[in-house]
Amino acid sequence: IFNKDLGQHILKNPLVAQGIEAGLNASDTVLEVGPGTGNLTVRILQQAKKVVAVEMDPRLAAELQKRVNGTPFQRKLHIMLGDFMKTELPFFDVVISNTPYQISSPLVFKLLEHRPMFRTAILMFQREFALRLIAKPGDELYCRLSVNVQLYAKVDHVMKVGKNNFRPPPQVESSVVRMEPKNPPPPVNAKEFDGLLRIVFVRKHKTLAANFKQTTVLNMLEQNYKTYCSAHEVMIESDFDIKTKVLGILESIDMSTQRAAKMDLDDFLKLLLTFNHANIHFT
Ligand code: SAM
Repeated sequence: IFNKDLGQHILKNPLVAQGIEAGLNASDTVLEVGPGTGNLTVRILQQAKKVVAVEMDPRLAAELQKRVNGTPFQRKLHIMLGDFMKTELPFFDVVISNTPYQISSPLVFKLLEHRPMFRTAILMFQREFALRLIAKPGDELYCRLSVNVQLYAKVDHVMKVGKNNFRPPPQVESSVVRMEPKNPPPPVNAKEFDGLLRIVFVRKHKTLAANFKQTTVLNMLEQNYKTYCSAHEVMIESDFDIKTKVLGILESIDMSTQRAAKMDLDDFLKLLLTFNHANIHFT
C-alpha cells in the first residue's frame, strides 16, 4: 500500500515523535513536509497554533484530511497538495520534516533560502547525511555540505533513529537533527562561497596551494578575473599571471599549506574575502 518511490516509511515510535515535537510553542505555525498518514501531524496539532502540511501523495493527503475532519484540529490544519520542492512556502516558525532521503540536500537549501528566517527546523535524515551536516573540522565526514550549511545555521544531532521505528523499515539508519538559522544571515554570497569550497574540497586533505594549482581551476579563475575586470573597468596588469596572483594571495594570509579538512568557517570566510579584495571571484 505504501509508495516506495515517495519514500513512504511511517514513523511508529511515539518516543521518537516526542523528541521531534520538543520545543514547540503554543503560538507556533509549523510547516510539516511529508505528513504521510499524519501520525506526527496530530501530535503537532496538539501543541502548535497552526500546521501547514505539504504532501505529494493525494491518497495520503486525503487520508490525513479525513483523520482531522470533525475534530477540533480541523481548522488548525491546512494541507497543501504537491511537491515540496516546487511549492511556494507560506510563513512558518518551525519546520518538521521526514521526507525521502533523495531530496535531503535540496530540501535543506530551500529552507535556508526561505525568508523570513524560521526559528527551528527538526529534520529526519539518513544517518550519514545527518553526520555530514554536523561535522566539524577534522571529522572524517567534514565536507562542502557541512560548511555551506553551517555558514547559515547552527546544526545539532538530536537522536539516532533505528530502522525498526518505521513501517515498513527503510534500508538505512536515520537521525534527527535540529537546525537553527543564524539571524540575520551572514552577508556572504552563497554562490561565491560554494564556488570556493568546490575547489578546496575536491581533495580536502591536500594543501590549498595544491588544489589551486590545478590547471582547470586556474583557467576558471583567470576567466572570472578578466570578466570581472572588464565589467568594473579595472586595468589588467601587463605582467598578469593568474598562478602567481593566486599563490601570492594564499601566501599573503599564510594559508598555502592549510588543508580544507582542518579549516573552520572563519578560515573559509577570510580566504574568500581576501580573494574578492583582489578581484578574484568564484562565480
Ligand atoms: N511524516 C510521516 C511519518 O513520519 O510517519 C511520513 C514520512 S514518509 C518517510 C515520507 C512522506 O513524504 C510520504 O508521505 C510521502 O508521500 C511524502 N513525500 C515524498 N516526497 C515528497 C515531496 N517531494 N514533497 C512532499 N511530500 C513528499
